[in-house]
Amino acid sequence: MRPAASRYNHLRVIAQDPGVVDRRGTILTAPVALPPEHLGSGPWGYRVQVVDFDTSTDTLYPAFAYEHDANGAVLDPFAETAARDLVGDRRFHAQNVYALVMSTLARFERALGRRASWGFGGHQLKVVPHAFADANAFYSRSDEALLFGYFQSQDGHTVHTCLSHDVIVHETAHALLDGMRARFIDPSSPDQAAFHEGFADVIALLSVFSLPGVVEEILARKGSEKGARENLIPVDDVDPEHLKASALLGLAEQMGKELKEARGEALRSSVLLPVSPDHAAKPEFQVPHRRGELLVAAVMNAFVRSWSDRMRDLRAVSDGYLDLQRVAEEGRDAADYLLTMSIRALDYTPPVHLEFCDYLSAAITADLEVRPDESRYRFRKHLRTGFRDFGIDSARGTVVPTREGQALDPKTTAVQPPEDGAWLPCQTLALVYDRTHSDPLTRDVDEVFRFIWENRNDLELTPDAFSQVLSVRPSLRVGPDGFALRETVAEFYQVLRLRPSELAERLGFALPGLTEDDVIPLYGGGTLIFDEYGRLKFYIHNSLDNATRQRRRLEHLIARGALPERGPRTRDFSRIHRLRGFDTGQPREEW
Ligand SMILES: [Zn+2]
Repeated sequence: MRPAASRYNHLRVIAQDPGVVDRRGTILTAPVALPPEHLGSGPWGYRVQVVDFDTSTDTLYPAFAYEHDANGAVLDPFAETAARDLVGDRRFHAQNVYALVMSTLARFERALGRRASWGFGGHQLKVVPHAFADANAFYSRSDEALLFGYFQSQDGHTVHTCLSHDVIVHETAHALLDGMRARFIDPSSPDQAAFHEGFADVIALLSVFSLPGVVEEILARKGSEKGARENLIPVDDVDPEHLKASALLGLAEQMGKELKEARGEALRSSVLLPVSPDHAAKPEFQVPHRRGELLVAAVMNAFVRSWSDRMRDLRAVSDGYLDLQRVAEEGRDAADYLLTMSIRALDYTPPVHLEFCDYLSAAITADLEVRPDESRYRFRKHLRTGFRDFGIDSARGTVVPTREGQALDPKTTAVQPPEDGAWLPCQTLALVYDRTHSDPLTRDVDEVFRFIWENRNDLELTPDAFSQVLSVRPSLRVGPDGFALRETVAEFYQVLRLRPSELAERLGFALPGLTEDDVIPLYGGGTLIFDEYGRLKFYIHNSLDNATRQRRRLEHLIARGALPERGPRTRDFSRIHRLRGFDTGQPREEW
C-alpha cells in the first residue's frame, strides 16, 4: 500500500538576515511549512527551479539532490547544521531561496483561494541565488527569473542578497503582482509606478512580522534596553506610537541589516515618515520609490493602530504590565490578517491606471465581502484612517457595486461615488445575461468578452478601441467563520492610439510640446467581479474616455519624459530598480 502522502514539506531558512542574531548571539533561523512535493535536484519543484549559475564568473554550480522519507516528505539536510555554518554554504543558499519563494507563493494562493500565476506565462520561475557580483536583486519577466547578487561589505566579508528574507519576499511579490496585473508596469500615474515597490515592501514587512518568534525577540530586546521586567511589557508601551517606535522600527532596522550600505533604509524611512496629507503633492514624492513609502506608511500605521486596539482587551498580568508573549501573538495574528487583506485587494483593483485610492477601496470592499463583521481587527476603519492621514481617500476609488439592493452605507464602506463621474448607480445597469452561459463565464475569456460586448453601453466601453479580456479567474475564499465565498474575477483592457488633434477633439484638452507626428496611447479597462451565480456584483472601471484621469496621467508622463513614445520600451524590473538608484542621485542601486 502506498504510504499516506505528507501534508507539508518543512525546510529551514534564515528568519531575517544573517546580521540578525538572538540574545545569545545565534543567527535566527526558522522552519517554514511548504506545499508537499517531491523535490528534484536544485531544488527544483513544480513552481520554482533554483539554478546556481554565476554570470560574473561564468560558473554553473552542481545542483544538490534531496532525499525524501517514506511518506514522501523531503528530508532537510540542514535541519541540524549550526546556524553560522549555513551562511557560507551555497547549497543552503539554494534551499533558502527555494523555501522563501515557495512560501510566498503559497501565502498568495491561500489568500486568493486559487492558484497564482507568474507574470511570464510559464509555470516554473527560475531563481538564481548567486546571479552576479553586484549589490542588487531583481525580478526579470524576460528571463522568467528572480536574480540575486552578492557583494563585498565594507569590512570585507561577502554579503549574499539570497540570504535576506525581505529581499526574497519583496522580489517574489513583484513576480506575483506581475502575474495578476500585467499592465501595472506600464507608464501611467505616479501612484501606479510607485505601487509595485510599495506593495512589495508591505508584503515583505508583514511576512517577516507574522513569522513565529520575530516580534517576541524584538519586543524583548527593546524591553531589556530599557531595563523592563523580563517577559512583561508595560501597558503604556502598547499605544500606537510606542509600538511603531519599538516593534515596527525595530523590525525595519533589522530587515536587510547586512545590506544597509547597498539598499539604504527604505523601510525605516517609511516607518518614520511623519503623518501629513501634503507629502503626495511634494516633488520628492513624485519619484516612484519615495512615493511607494506613502503606501507602506499608510498600511503600517493602520497595522499598529489595530494591534494597539487589541491590547486594550488584554488583562494585565501584574500591576501595569502585560504578558509580552500575548502582545507578540496578537501582533503576529494581526499582521497575518492584514497580509491576507493586502493580497486579496489586488483582485478588486482596476487592470490599468491604478491609484492608491483604488487600492484602498479595493482592500476594504474585498474584505467586506468575505468578512462582514470586522469587530476583531477593524482594519477597514484603520486603513481608511491610515490612508486619509496621507491624503488618500477611499471615496475616490473605482470600485462600484452593480447588483440591485447592494446599496452600502458610504460611511462604513469604500463604495462611494468617485470624484470624476465613473460612478454607476446599480439601478441604471440593465445588464443582459441571457446571451452568455454562467459556467463558461467563470473560465473562458471569449465568453467574458461576449458578455462585455453585449453590455458595452451599460459598462461604458469605448467601442472603437482595441479590447481584450486579459484573464478570467475563479476563486474560493474562506472567511474566519468558515463561510465560503465563490467569485470570478475577470479583467479586460482597451487601447486607442491618437494624434494630438484627435485627442483634443475626443477628450477636450491639448497637451504641451507635441507635434502632429506624435502618437498618444490611451489605455482603459475594467475588472469584473462575478458572484457564484455568474451575476456581476462589482465593476472596477477606468474608462478610456475619462478626461480627468487621462489628462492627469498624460501630463505626468510628458513631464517625466515618458511620452511621446520614442525608441523601444523596456519592461524589465532591473531597470525600475536601477532607476530607483538614479532618482536618489546616489551611485547605488536599490531594491
Ligand atoms: Zn522592488
